Amino acid sequence: MLSVIIPAYNEEQMIPRTASVIGGILNDAGIDHELLFINDGSKDATWSEIEKASRKYDDVRGVSFSRNFGKESAIFAGIAEAKGDCCVVIDCDLQHPPEKIVEMYRLWEQGYEIVEGVKTSRGRESGLHKFAAKSFYDIMSSSVGFDMSRASDFKLLDRKAMNVLLNMNEKNAFFRALSSWIGFKSCEVEYDVREREAGTSKWSTRALVKYALINITSFTSAPMQLVTILGIIVFIVGLATSVEALVRFIQGTAREGFTTVIILQCFTGSFIMIGLGIIGFYISKIYDEVKGRPKYIIDKTV
Ligand code: UDP
Ligand code: MG
Repeated sequence: MLSVIIPAYNEEQMIPRTASVIGGILNDAGIDHELLFINDGSKDATWSEIEKASRKYDDVRGVSFSRNFGKESAIFAGIAEAKGDCCVVIDCDLQHPPEKIVEMYRLWEQGYEIVEGVKTSRGRESGLHKFAAKSFYDIMSSSVGFDMSRASDFKLLDRKAMNVLLNMNEKNAFFRALSSWIGFKSCEVEYDVREREAGTSKWSTRALVKYALINITSFTSAPMQLVTILGIIVFIVGLATSVEALVRFIQGTAREGFTTVIILQCFTGSFIMIGLGIIGFYISKIYDEVKGRPKYIIDKTV
């Protein structure tokens, strides 16, 4: 059986349509399936729409969080709740073409354990958004070790891969990168990102920046090495200036020097604080992981 995991946050307009479209396609293809909606603490009527859909269709199940925990948590809850031999994660807004699920499922039948959906285009985005997304994926790609620029959350996972992901006790799990990091026999299916049919994107710029920072730090410690490199550079510059100052002192042409002192003070002070900030960020991540709080809290199921 195939479990289709659909995270939904404030998607009341999309639930009935998504349920009928995906259900219809899978029925036509004769694939035994369940649709698993994860209500990520929506503030609108999403949950009652899911309940309605589950009364209407036998193949629809729903899980509701006690509050908004974010898409990553919703995906992991879906993997934990899924009963299938494999699962597909797909957005609720039908931006990921649902026909591709069938193609992915056929590849799974041929023995592939992970089928990645890769974007041929990124849909409509503003210039700044494109630039920010590109920088983020460049950093992620170099820290994970493979190209992430076209990666998405739209993918099929075999039961084996699902179990591996469930056994990771990382709190800040970045699904998109982790599912490639775990390996297994994988292949790709290309798709075009479509326009959203109803509702609006759930990501504010602030949320995206936070998401990027959290995911980068959960995969690489490069920013901390940056502090060391910065320190070495400042040390070399400091050595040169010290030698110069000493020579001038001996020659009796020492500068008045107060301006230099002020400038040096300000720069070294700010470098130290930036360094502390970066280290502090990692410590807060360690703190979060050590507390061991659950990724999500389930309120009700249907
Ligand atoms: N989503 C979620 N929790 C959140 C934000 C988003 O479950 O906190 C879901 C949302 O309902 C949708 C998917 O994640 O199914 C992708 O969200 P969206 O379409 O807003 O993102 P975009 O397509 O703009 O990247
Ligand atoms: Mg979307």
